[in-house]
Amino acid sequence: MRVIDHWIGGTRATGTGTRLGDVYDPALGEVAAQVRLASAADLDAAVATARAAFAEWGEASIAKRQQVLFAFREKLNARKDELAAIITAEHGKVLSDAAGEIQRGLEVVEFACGMPHLAKGGYSENASTGVDVYSLKQPLGVVGIISPFNFPAMVPMWFFPIALAAGNCVVLKPSEKDPSAAIWLAELLTQSGLPDGVFNVVHGDKEAVDALLVHPDVASISFVGSTPIAQYVYETGTRHGKRVQALGGAKNHMLVLPDADLDLVADSAVNAGFGSAGERCMAISVVVAVDSIADELIGKIKDRMGKLVTGDGRRSCDMGPLITREHRDKVAGYVEIAAADGAEIVVDGRDVVADGAADGFWLGPTLLDRVPTSSRAYTEEIFGPVLSVVRVSGYEDGVALINAGPYGNGTAIFTNDGGAARRFQREVEVGMVGINVPIPVPVAYYSFGGWKASLFGDAKAYGPAGADFFTREKAITSRWLDPSHGGLNLGFPQNV
Ligand code: NAD
Repeated sequence: MRVIDHWIGGTRATGTGTRLGDVYDPALGEVAAQVRLASAADLDAAVATARAAFAEWGEASIAKRQQVLFAFREKLNARKDELAAIITAEHGKVLSDAAGEIQRGLEVVEFACGMPHLAKGGYSENASTGVDVYSLKQPLGVVGIISPFNFPAMVPMWFFPIALAAGNCVVLKPSEKDPSAAIWLAELLTQSGLPDGVFNVVHGDKEAVDALLVHPDVASISFVGSTPIAQYVYETGTRHGKRVQALGGAKNHMLVLPDADLDLVADSAVNAGFGSAGERCMAISVVVAVDSIADELIGKIKDRMGKLVTGDGRRSCDMGPLITREHRDKVAGYVEIAAADGAEIVVDGRDVVADGAADGFWLGPTLLDRVPTSSRAYTEEIFGPVLSVVRVSGYEDGVALINAGPYGNGTAIFTNDGGAARRFQREVEVGMVGINVPIPVPVAYYSFGGWKASLFGDAKAYGPAGADFFTREKAITSRWLDPSHGGLNLGFPQNV
């Protein structure tokens, strides 16, 4: 059985940990490889390597760091099909979707190529007579990144290009469920001229995460994953003196007003509900339909769902399997819960006949209507191909429902009424809002992050917020002394 190693100091490393985890090919339902699960000592070794590398990388010129990122961008562009195949084999998402996540990650690489501009400080000449004040943006040192299974390439790329461009060294702890993409990216960074030790990958589970969270030489943590773990990471990391951004789970609603074009709405609901088998933090999981158009909209969504092919992502299917058998069963369990609580099963994905191996972790697209908002199928994040419909009487009712939820990652409104859309963008308590756009993932030069239980800490990912997160500012007040500056004065300095 193939064993997936760590990447420390510019090369594969076995470490000293003895535990291994299974990595599945979810479309086959078979273990395809095993991954090393780091011990705390392995994590220490990676941090020590990164810290040693920081002595040079932190001092490298902006031009040198930029050259590495430009080279990385070229290589990744040229070889992205290889990476997409790796993602599909371990995650299960269809190849075109894997290519899409790489493209969105590349956007951040391109943004980070412009880091010289973002790393500029300010300068105020003569802030006081003969005194200049200016600011520097310096790297933090060793930064930790902990990523989820659902975007094994894109989520690490939300962080490491900017972290590296700013002069930091990185220890990445990717999801142990699909760890190969991170190693492939690490190798490509080395081939792009990144010095050894600047970017390290340590595989593992809670043991590795915990070691990273308390390590005195780790300056910051960037985490993406489920809400309970995000909260734990935020609380533990900050308690140990680190800067932490921790992005959590989601339950994204799409409000449909009666004046919307229901064909376009149905397309969007299906694409955003079932793309990547619903395993996206920006997936639409609840369609909030105004009662007067709900039946017509459900009919249109159902028609489209009939055309979707669930199967092996390497074939030309629309939707792949779920990540593990346990997760597949958990998601299917929510269909039972919803039905027991009084929801109507409009399309039941549990009966799906997949275009793939019999043992794949299949669950077809599922549509539930009249889901009670007290049901766990409504209150909890399902993270699978289950789209719920909740009916409301109108705009106010819809916004109140969205704002009552604990999450605040993404949301969308579908309408042709500009006034209603403008009210929605102002009133809805969610961090990323789409107006007739169902998955409003901001472009790389804005920042990504939700509100409420979808983000712990105040730092969003990438964009200007990312550039701030991975640098710390120093303010300099400078005077070049001449004899006229002499004399004793113990008062607080004032600007004159
Ligand atoms: P997860 O929380 O199970 O795991 C995320 C990371 O935390 C992994 O690296 C994992 O090894 C580690 N981890 C898991 N349990 C841990 C524990 N007890 N202690 C310490 N570390 C632990 O999440 P997942 O299942 O990999 O990913 C899906 C979740 O991520 C969903 O909730 C989804 O909404 C969320 N997500 C959020 C965003 C966002 O931007 N807000 C983006 C992608 C995914």
